[in-house]
Amino acid sequence: MYSIRRWVVRNARFFEVVYRTFEPVVIKLAPLWNKVGYPRVEKPVSKLEKFSKELLFDCKMCGQCILSSTGMSCPMNCPKSMRNGPCGGVLQNGHCEVLPEKRCVWVDAWEGSKKMKSGDAIHAVQLPIDHRLQGSSSWLRVARQATDAASQHKQEGRDD
Ligand code: SF4
Repeated sequence: MYSIRRWVVRNARFFEVVYRTFEPVVIKLAPLWNKVGYPRVEKPVSKLEKFSKELLFDCKMCGQCILSSTGMSCPMNCPKSMRNGPCGGVLQNGHCEVLPEKRCVWVDAWEGSKKMKSGDAIHAVQLPIDHRLQGSSSWLRVARQATDAASQHKQEGRDD
């Protein structure tokens, strides 16, 4: 797993392209998710998401994926769950002070983001983690947020 996740970071640009292709598809499928019902699709979709992302990113299914802002290095693999950059304990060789045999996920995140077109997203300040979303699908969350925003926009257009 560890070597796969390191390989993904080294190929962050490729995975960024995959993500940019995949995200609109998930959003386009929003009418289907709506029709079937989000609670009903949650289980199979989160299982599929867990399977694919665990394999590639060592995903912990936090439900609020920020891989596209972290050079494809999952911040939930940090033993301190740091989501806004490294702690002060990065060793001189770029490894983690808690798990000295492993590189700091934020050292990887920085290197991965340098390979990405939208690598500047690493500077965005992330909200604190919402533990209530643990285990839920980030994919469905993105789709739901996009449709909610579109319907709100429509509503505002009608109100004007
Ligand atoms: S940020 Fe969250 S959803 Fe994304 S790979 Fe890491 S644990 Fe999984």
